[in-house]
Amino acid sequence: MLARVIGGGISGVTTAYYLARKGYDVTVVERERYTGMMTSYANGGQLSASNAETWNSWGNVKKGIKWMFQEDAPLKINPKPELSKIGWMARFLANIPNRERNTLETCRMALKAHDYYRAIANDEGIEFDRVEKGILHIYRDERELQHARKVNELYKKAGLDRREVTAQELLSIEPALQQSETAFRGGFYNEQDFTGDIHLFCRNLSRLLKHKYNVKFLKIPATIYDIELWASQGVVIICAGVDSPDLARYIGDKLSIYPVKGYSITVNDPKSAPWVSLLDDETKIVSARLGEARFRAAGTAEFTGKNFDIKQARIQPLVDWTRTLFPEMNTEYVTPWAGLRPMTPSMMPIVKQSNKNTNVYYNTGHGHLGWTLSAYTANQITDIIEATQ
Ligand SMILES: Cc1cc2nc3c(=O)[nH]c(=O)nc-3n(C[C@H](O)[C@H](O)[C@H](O)COP(=O)(O)OP(=O)(O)OC[C@H]3O[C@@H](n4cnc5c(N)ncnc54)[C@H](O)[C@@H]3O)c2cc1C
Repeated sequence: MLARVIGGGISGVTTAYYLARKGYDVTVVERERYTGMMTSYANGGQLSASNAETWNSWGNVKKGIKWMFQEDAPLKINPKPELSKIGWMARFLANIPNRERNTLETCRMALKAHDYYRAIANDEGIEFDRVEKGILHIYRDERELQHARKVNELYKKAGLDRREVTAQELLSIEPALQQSETAFRGGFYNEQDFTGDIHLFCRNLSRLLKHKYNVKFLKIPATIYDIELWASQGVVIICAGVDSPDLARYIGDKLSIYPVKGYSITVNDPKSAPWVSLLDDETKIVSARLGEARFRAAGTAEFTGKNFDIKQARIQPLVDWTRTLFPEMNTEYVTPWAGLRPMTPSMMPIVKQSNKNTNVYYNTGHGHLGWTLSAYTANQITDIIEATQ
């Protein structure tokens, strides 16, 4: 059967992989010259079940309001009224009661996805600067640490083996932190999570798809006319990141996905950089070592529509964070980047058949965890297609 996957980001290439393995005749339709060029380009690099906590909480709402006029705040909401943003925010609030359930489910999906990624990497020999040294959450503030203890109970239920560590233990788990004069309260560490370069994974998986599984790559911006034609010949799976709602609207489906902007910096001289991946809940910054040659720090969330401007005021906190924690690292040259997280108001990905056209499917809306979750949801959508065709 013919299958057209719209979008060559991480959700698209993993979907193409599982469909091709099931014997589908797959074409990936990507408007950019290469796969993995949009949000799946320079993200935080974490495959993190330990970041499964959804953002739907009154605490985050209060922080969002407090930070509204602070240019370098970790979470920044542009106060300009915008219909899609207001509707999304209302649905975000409506999902606060579902926070625990969704956090638990996300953590479970992430752990399964870990197995799927490791299987792809090992079985197919996909190289992506994978570093298997776990993720260390660091805390300076007692209140944040107490909150982390509560969240950890949910993670434990989901099967994540994450343990509390003292400030002293933090420094022995990641000795690079000894350069810093920061007074930590403590942290949490797990060895199930890992890190890797999402762009490299997309590129190397695409090469494998082309040469081993005969997947075709078509470089065009797919229009509704293309999708209608392709849906009459086989199945179409929309994995178009923040552009998915536009394609869905033409089909007659409504997807609530907001482009939540984030930033990263890549340091190409990572001497003295940590090898263990860090997650700093207070500043909402994550870091990953991408092999010997690169270090990445990423974070911040900005609600400002489909906008790719790289603002210095939002890059600077990433540089300052790196300089404060790792003063011996050379940050003379850093490469800044901004990308748009395709975020649903419940923080849960959309993995389903279209309500209007039974040959159209969606695997999209992975928000802040698209790298972590895509191998799982790609498997899931393949099963849904098999069950419904
Ligand atoms: C700063 C930052 C840090 C992050 N850190 C992490 C992290 O550490 N761990 C984690 O799990 N996740 C992280 N994420 C989230 C993760 O990067 C995203 O969820 C993920 O990359 C989204 O993948 P995608 O395939 O849905 O979208 P994309 O990668 O954007 O892919 C969609 C593709 O569809 C194409 N497309 C769109 N419309 C059309 C069309 N009409 N025709 C043809 N092609 C089309 C686009 O060109 C694009 O290539 C981070 C995100 C950001 C911004």
